[in-house]
Amino acid sequence: MAPPLSPKRGLVLVADDDPVMRLLMLQMLEQVGLDVIEASDGQQALTRFHDHLPDLVLLDVDMPGMDGFAVCRAIRESEREGTIPIIMVTGADELEAVTQAYEVGATDFVSKPINWPVLGHRVLYVLRASDAIARLRIADAHNRAVLAAIPDTFFRLNRDGYYLDYEQGHAPHAAFASARCVGQHVRAVLPGDVAERLLEQMNTVLDTQQLRSVDYVLQGRDALQHFETRLVSTGTNEVLGMVRDISERKRTEEQIRRLAYCDSLTGIPNRQAFLEMLQTELVRSRLQNKKFAVLFMDLDAFKRINDTLGHNVGDLLLKTVSERLRETIRPSDLVTRAEQPGNNLARLGGDEFTILIPDLERVENALNVAHRVKEAMRRPFLIDAHEIFVTASIGISLYPQDGQDSDSLLKYADTAMYHAKNCGKNNAKLYSSSLTMQIMSHVKLEVGLRKALQNNELYLLYQPQIDVSSAQIVGVEALVRWRHPERGIVSPTEFIPLAEETGLIVPIGEWVLRTACNQARAWQQVSQRQLRMAVNLSARQFKDENLTQIVLSALHDTGLEPRLLELELTEGTLMDDARATMATLEQLRGIGVRLSIDDFGTGYSSMNYLKRFDVRALKIDKSFISGLPQDSENAAITRAIIAMAHGLKMVVVAEGVETDEQLLLLEQYGCDMVQGYYLGHPSPQETITQMLQEQCKPPRPVQAKLPLV
Ligand code: C2E
Ligand code: MG
Ligand code: MG
Repeated sequence: MAPPLSPKRGLVLVADDDPVMRLLMLQMLEQVGLDVIEASDGQQALTRFHDHLPDLVLLDVDMPGMDGFAVCRAIRESEREGTIPIIMVTGADELEAVTQAYEVGATDFVSKPINWPVLGHRVLYVLRASDAIARLRIADAHNRAVLAAIPDTFFRLNRDGYYLDYEQGHAPHAAFASARCVGQHVRAVLPGDVAERLLEQMNTVLDTQQLRSVDYVLQGRDALQHFETRLVSTGTNEVLGMVRDISERKRTEEQIRRLAYCDSLTGIPNRQAFLEMLQTELVRSRLQNKKFAVLFMDLDAFKRINDTLGHNVGDLLLKTVSERLRETIRPSDLVTRAEQPGNNLARLGGDEFTILIPDLERVENALNVAHRVKEAMRRPFLIDAHEIFVTASIGISLYPQDGQDSDSLLKYADTAMYHAKNCGKNNAKLYSSSLTMQIMSHVKLEVGLRKALQNNELYLLYQPQIDVSSAQIVGVEALVRWRHPERGIVSPTEFIPLAEETGLIVPIGEWVLRTACNQARAWQQVSQRQLRMAVNLSARQFKDENLTQIVLSALHDTGLEPRLLELELTEGTLMDDARATMATLEQLRGIGVRLSIDDFGTGYSSMNYLKRFDVRALKIDKSFISGLPQDSENAAITRAIIAMAHGLKMVVVAEGVETDEQLLLLEQYGCDMVQGYYLGHPSPQETITQMLQEQCKPPRPVQAKLPLV
């Protein structure tokens, strides 16, 4: 094979049997920068063509043996694409030869006599043209490959809205009758509204020469299909449309939306969704001059259910609660505009739910909904064979009076909910400026409480506890009071929760304990009687790791015998964390102090559950006693509690005994001890001392001897 020639502007094969002609051609072509190889007959021309693959062939028609036509035909047959230009050199204007030349695949011809100065340029021109054609071919092939790879459907529309052509992509285009729509109008092919939007956008594209896109949904064979059509102008009178099936993308978007806006446990909207809902409602209500309410609901004692029955039951309960809420807020006075019932409901997290009440005409409507929700929650929940009783506390904030933005409204509803909880749970409260005032005074109170101990503003009152059979004072309960420098006497029901919240209960509780032990010891010495001192212990104190130490040192420093100290715990304190409770109770029992359950019957516990804690005394809450003897239901409960407690060898104390009848009834029921205004108000130590002295006189029958004060 001949060595390859270095390409310049192109390589030309010159085939002519006449050496003079070849020489002239060579010179002319080299003059314009072309490389030349020669062949002196047809056969040689073919061989050299295949050896060198020139960019152009200049072929004499008349050659001995194989003539120019035969060579041209042979080249074209060997070369699939027919892209190499072949110029035939014909005799003087032989029309027949020219025709034949084109028939065998020649690109161009020159006829003799040859115009030599022009020949080089002519060859250059043909080369350039062939180069352009080659590029076009490549571009065309490239475009086809790209189009084949894209799933989109392509079409062209003219300005009047008729399809000029249509190329179906991979994804079938619902309601499109493939290429059959060519020549038809858009309105005849697509549903009316889609066609109108497409035509409108087409006009915009033609006017502005900018890309536009239209999204629409068509009914596919099995499901709805989402499409996006991008329109681009391809001239002044037509547009190219590219249709893409975006159903999958829409599905993914929807899934992402669901994940981002749905609470995964209950399937209802989450906090983010609620905030956006609130934002939309704010804009709408502002424009239309409307009012709305935000309800914030929190289950009371949910943590306890989680801790005692497990998280699975807790989760199931939350699900059921959300379903019940959805049913409750369905009535027409509430959800009128929401697309789906329950859409105004959200779970913010944990056991917190929110409800948006739009178009509020009267505040009472919000309170009514809150009431319905509360009632719905009170019906027992049957979960996993457990019958669970819950109550809910609800806070309500109102637009526009309480707040003008979503964060404030939510925050205020939350604050109102806390207020509702502080007011005894199972409550609904409105946020209002008066609440703000209360919170302000709460803050002031907290500052004062911090100073109360060092300023000696706290003191104790003692309420006697009477043994029913002997009618003797057998113990007292220490009850703390705060003499506030401005407000006067503050009740523990007001400041103890605050002290618990702030942790101040720990030093306050320690002071109460020491003072009470000291007093008990003093009475013991004066009266020579074994008087038991009961001290209330809050949950926070019970969780304090130094509790045992504090109790021990109070006993040690005052010299009071441990068995004469009784610590009152509430059911809530015991239920909070059963395992830790057991350990602390064990330590306290180890010291020898007596433990009792205060306010029994108001908590969530059952007698059976309390058995585990091995507590020796139980105080029936005053709410059961207050209606006696008329309230037959409470009478039955009281009687049952006493019987069950005795079954568990517990001593029973009834709190809040205010009348003679109550005392008699309790005596009949076998109640061991009584405490209440009828037998003695919480009193200063001097009063108790006096009572104790009174009792030192010889005993009289029970009824005659009572009341003491
Ligand atoms: P509690 O331990 O159940 O105390 C009984 C409460 O009932 C006392 O309210 C007492 O004054 C009141 N009471 C007694 N007899 C009657 C009656 O016949 N009728 C009525 N209606 N009420 C009666 P108080 O003194 O206001 O104390 C309220 C609560 O504050 C106590 O309830 C206790 O939980 C808490 N508390 C009081 N002192 C302390 C303390 O030193 N430490 C802790 N942690 N809590 C305390
Ligand atoms: Mg008590
Ligand atoms: Mg009590």
